[in-house]
Amino acid sequence: VKRNYSEKEFHQAVALFLRSLVPLLAKYPIYMEKGILEQITEPERLITFRVPWVDDNGKTRVNRGLRVQFNSAIGPYKGGLRFHPTVDSSIIKFLGFEQTFKNSLTGQPIGGGKGGADFDPKGKSDNEIMRFCQSFMTELAKYIGPDVDIPAGDIGVGAREIGYMFGQYKKVRGAFEAGVLTGKGIGYGGSLGRKESTGFGTIYFVQEMLKDSGFSLKGSTVIVSGSGNVSIYAMEKARELGAKIVACSDSNGYIYDANGINIDTVKQIKEVEYGRISEYIIKHPEASYSEGCGGIWTIPCDVALPCATQNELDEQAALTLVRNNVKAVAEGANMPSTPEAIDVFLENKVLFGPAKAVNAGGVAVSSLEMAQNSMRLSWTFEEVDAKLQEIMKNIYQSCVDAAEEFELDGNFEAAANIAGFRKVADAMIAQGVI
Ligand code: NDP
Repeated sequence: VKRNYSEKEFHQAVALFLRSLVPLLAKYPIYMEKGILEQITEPERLITFRVPWVDDNGKTRVNRGLRVQFNSAIGPYKGGLRFHPTVDSSIIKFLGFEQTFKNSLTGQPIGGGKGGADFDPKGKSDNEIMRFCQSFMTELAKYIGPDVDIPAGDIGVGAREIGYMFGQYKKVRGAFEAGVLTGKGIGYGGSLGRKESTGFGTIYFVQEMLKDSGFSLKGSTVIVSGSGNVSIYAMEKARELGAKIVACSDSNGYIYDANGINIDTVKQIKEVEYGRISEYIIKHPEASYSEGCGGIWTIPCDVALPCATQNELDEQAALTLVRNNVKAVAEGANMPSTPEAIDVFLENKVLFGPAKAVNAGGVAVSSLEMAQNSMRLSWTFEEVDAKLQEIMKNIYQSCVDAAEEFELDGNFEAAANIAGFRKVADAMIAQGVI
């Protein structure tokens, strides 16, 4: 479509998605007749705004803020905020589009949204981060609310940033509306288990996928790209279930530790010191560090979990993983595998868990955080984790059911798209052309 001419990532996501709907559209032509595809690929709204802030040297800086409110057919817009220099309308629209169907898959009443800014948090002082978050929220506050649009974290936005943004929202609105943001600190409306939920959920999905095929995480070798929120808790849960994690990375390079990565060290470097993964070998000289993040996929493993960013795993990397006998690949990040890489996995019968299904645990627990905020109570970690496990099992089952109904030969990529799409499309038809 000409109007989205330059939006490469958005085109990639939509093309992959539409390709997998073919069997559904053939069986149920009503979705074409009602013009659902034309409506569903156009966001309800894309907001862009100026984010001016002053750095520690007194210099004025300006970034661009964005929020896409993609689809509200089944609930208020919901999706994270990303602070990264690569953020633009293509990235935010691809993420918002994917989020719509992921949220539908969770079974929770949440629509799709996403946002962020082309701000680079790396090397910024804590005060600079705070001033940026405050300026960003001063503008965003006009467009969000607990029943309208509920942002959360994503790349570059963790508990610290959510805290600063919540503080500013409260000041601008003059009200303590806990349900406006998720991923909040436990002391002011956050949910136990939210921090761990995307990574833990990823592993719960992998567990189901492996169980059905007679494999297990116990005794398996795992590599996980990234060393952020998703990666750290995927590593933690996989280790708890008996896997050995031998490698992880950041945007500069990757570490390999044949004895198994020490996750406490990674947490200290990344969550406490905001440092680089290369620092790992100072504490663990037996491990090695290599520059460049793509090389991580050359390490032999049973399970590969891309948990860093979009298009980080290409066709060559996929072929190498297959050559090294990988059994399962599950996407903790959003769209980490290129379309060519996905084809390699599917052609070679590698168990493949697509992002929409695999990483939906984060937004699912965000929705549980909203529910707790509405009821003004807090569930225990165990209660939240039990609900997360149940949700991930249901998502897995939705994929199995769609794969069976449409004879997809175990293609969960297509199955997740079909299952997520139907609920949103049916709600849109019921609500008319609006
Ligand atoms: P974080 O910012 O916590 O961590 C991101 C990690 O990926 C960091 O290690 C980062 O390295 C690395 N990374 C970022 N950009 C690149 C790049 N261009 N090349 C290589 N590595 C890179 O983010 P999250 O863990 O929250 O998010 C990771 C992925 O998971 C994203 O795709 C996100 O959309 C998705 N996701 C996150 C959810 C959540 O709940 N947080 C929910 C669902 C999906 P460095 O430190 O060098 O920047």
